[in-house]
Amino acid sequence: MKAMRKDLTRYIKAEASRLGFDACGIAPAEKVDEVSCNALQEWLAQGKQAGMAYMANHTDKRLDPRLLMEGTQSVVSVALNYYPWVLLKKEQYQFAWYAYGKDYHTILKEKLHALLSGIRQQAPEVNGRVFCDTAPLLERYWAWQAGLGWIGKNTQLIIPKAGSTFFLGEILLDTRLCYDTPLPNRCGNCTRCLDACPTHALEAPYRLNAAHCLSYLTIENKGDIPEKNTGKMGNCIYGCDRCQQSCPWNRFARPSHEPELEASEEFLHMMPEDWDTLSIERYRVLFKGSAVKRAKYEGLMRNIRAVQKKN
Ligand code: SF4
Ligand code: SF4
Repeated sequence: MKAMRKDLTRYIKAEASRLGFDACGIAPAEKVDEVSCNALQEWLAQGKQAGMAYMANHTDKRLDPRLLMEGTQSVVSVALNYYPWVLLKKEQYQFAWYAYGKDYHTILKEKLHALLSGIRQQAPEVNGRVFCDTAPLLERYWAWQAGLGWIGKNTQLIIPKAGSTFFLGEILLDTRLCYDTPLPNRCGNCTRCLDACPTHALEAPYRLNAAHCLSYLTIENKGDIPEKNTGKMGNCIYGCDRCQQSCPWNRFARPSHEPELEASEEFLHMMPEDWDTLSIERYRVLFKGSAVKRAKYEGLMRNIRAVQKKN
């Protein structure tokens, strides 16, 4: 049995790498630890999830992945780098790096299903379920538990010598495997992400108040952007990466090797005047299959107006 676990563990990691994942680790499926459990409950009780009401749903499952699939014993956590090949220039309107290319949900899910199918070919008796930002699962926590990195004061998962520009995905499996060890936190005395946050949405280390976060306000939020925050947007019309850009670990970031995550030439050449006059037809072509559609045309235009107001 032990030999089988070792072989299957080795296979999962080799196959994840062959499929293009940049990191893969495995954790035993257990209840989330007390500190993280209390932190989540306190965060929810204080309403720091703002309009993301779904965050308060299924807390029991969020705190114990074994409730998401019967017989779950292991959490396989994978990471896919999205750091762009070419960055938008300072004088252009800014988008969060993760949104430059095609929708990561599609790309990640395809790879995760391919990995699960490979696992089931190796071990047909094993059952699994794939997750990618679509279910109540604490992705960063499990990536930490699976030895991929640690959760930084900016609340992102940081992978040593690689940074935080990674999409995360998981596979729950109903078999035991060989497990990785969580890494110690290496933020040390650094507070650069807190200092860089223009709206003080990072209220304290590891504590994000979504109601003030420009990423939330320009993407998930359906209402107006509060005036006190529009002045803090700079040129950001979709998301805000300042707490990542300021993190010294992202000096190690290297461009993604996933072609689908590359920005189109048209996107990279858009100037403020092109965005200001963006028609819905051009928006549809520009963002076909992109995660930017989450904010919808109206949301993006609202953001553009907010940035113009400040200018
Ligand atoms: S995304 Fe921007 S606003 Fe949100 S916490 Fe990070 S730096 Fe602050
Ligand atoms: S900027 Fe500093 S404190 Fe913030 S996540 Fe990075 S290393 Fe940690």
